[in-house]
Amino acid sequence: MATQYILAIDQGTTSSRAIIFDHSGSVVATGQKEHEQILPKAGWVEHDPAEIWHNVQEVIGLALTRAHLTRHDIAAVGITNQRETTVVWDRRTGKPVYNAIVWQDTRTQPIVDRLATDGGLDRFKEVVGLPLATYFAGTKVAWILENVDGARRAADAGDLLFGTTDTWVLWNLTGGVHGGVHATDVTNASRTMFMDLLTLQWRDDILEAFGVPRSMMPEIRSSSEVYGTAETSSLLRHAPIAGILGDQQAATFGQAAFAAGESKNTYGTGCFLIFNTGEEIIHSTNGLLTTVGYKLGDAPTHYALEGSIAVAGSLIQWLRDQLGLISSAPEVEELAGQVDDNGGVYIVPAFSGLFTPYWRPDARGAIVGLTRFANRNHIAKAALEAVAFQTRDVLDAVNADAEVGLSELKVDGGMVANDALMQFQADILGVPVVRPVVTETTALGAAYAAGLAVGFWSGLDDLSANWQEDQRWEPKLDAAERDRQLRLWRKAVTKSMDWVDEDVRATS
Ligand code: ADP
Repeated sequence: MATQYILAIDQGTTSSRAIIFDHSGSVVATGQKEHEQILPKAGWVEHDPAEIWHNVQEVIGLALTRAHLTRHDIAAVGITNQRETTVVWDRRTGKPVYNAIVWQDTRTQPIVDRLATDGGLDRFKEVVGLPLATYFAGTKVAWILENVDGARRAADAGDLLFGTTDTWVLWNLTGGVHGGVHATDVTNASRTMFMDLLTLQWRDDILEAFGVPRSMMPEIRSSSEVYGTAETSSLLRHAPIAGILGDQQAATFGQAAFAAGESKNTYGTGCFLIFNTGEEIIHSTNGLLTTVGYKLGDAPTHYALEGSIAVAGSLIQWLRDQLGLISSAPEVEELAGQVDDNGGVYIVPAFSGLFTPYWRPDARGAIVGLTRFANRNHIAKAALEAVAFQTRDVLDAVNADAEVGLSELKVDGGMVANDALMQFQADILGVPVVRPVVTETTALGAAYAAGLAVGFWSGLDDLSANWQEDQRWEPKLDAAERDRQLRLWRKAVTKSMDWVDEDVRATS
């Protein structure tokens, strides 16, 4: 056991990573490679699935080499992934029929509108836990079938397969056209709009409403079981692939938030707060999503409420790439740190509309409160604060839906390296914010799921013992000032709404 490790593949929005963990949950080695963000038009975001698969293989090699390990040291492989991003490929050739349509992509709004004419946006919510929105995989599959030449015919003939990127990676890793396993786990399936939360099965009536043939759909499996083994010719040959969790559920698992009432918030490209509701399905009345948290083999399903914020770290990337205000993400700290406050400036980053708790596709980004006094430092500060304010809105929704409110917030993701942001987050929430030692919680969660399936870890207690606190930020801001800032933030949010009219929708 001491010489064995778990390898987790994290197929993320901006990059693919392979991380090797030891039994204590510590990172032994990492390989990482970014892939291209293809932006053909405003609102469209694509990835090349072939590039992703190529990068996944490369990062596996990098991680193994850096750790001086071979496949024989790897007890099992876990997969975690950007959720909802949709790949459709031909089962005979293994070739995608179109680029992957990424979760942030808003091109399917007309399909959302069409489906909502009969029953409104909450038409399927009771069954699948989600409102109709461009965010989820369902309308993205429908778009490919409706818009890619020959796709509908090939799908009807049974030649096409659908998968989120976990499924794409699993299928390729286990042999592709030569018997690749076409499966997904319950957490990823719960983001399609096609899975019944109660039975954990695809719903034929919903597939039919979207015009998606059942033959395209992967088999739904638990988050922790052996799905198959890596193909003979791969670096991981014959290693069992034994865990799959969508990235946010994986981070929750990696934070050891296993029980009802536990939660975490991940600050990456977007920001996602997951609140474990145990074996109970809670339907939100405050704009949260109901989703599957995890399911370990045959054990009962754990559900969760989720608040999804589309733009968090990507707002910092926007300051870097589109405005040229900074040359690297961490520079935002320095820029923001040069002023005491935001100078009255508020940024609402509704680049793809507003997700939780507003669900307003008609919103677009707004910078308000500008005066002649405002400068780049204020913009930088306002950008960071926007992430904290959005999280506060989500936390309010969780507290309203759940009987017991949150008493502290566990955090992870790339942005939690920013101490000033974490302090402001604690100030604006009014509860402590806690960062663990291992912030690679997404990959760790997938490793945990895989390791549990093969007996590398004996159970959840074994994993909880690995969790260690690194830093804790206590709220310091006085309540009156906090409330004043929240009032201004909420006013700013109203200014971003009602922007997209019918006639501009096609291009914005
Ligand atoms: P993902 O997994 O979604 O690709 P990560 O968890 O790796 O994202 O986080 C990267 C994000 O964090 C980037 O969007 C980047 O802009 C942001 N980021 C990185 N360092 C900082 C920092 N010091 N301050 C603010 N944001 C940061």
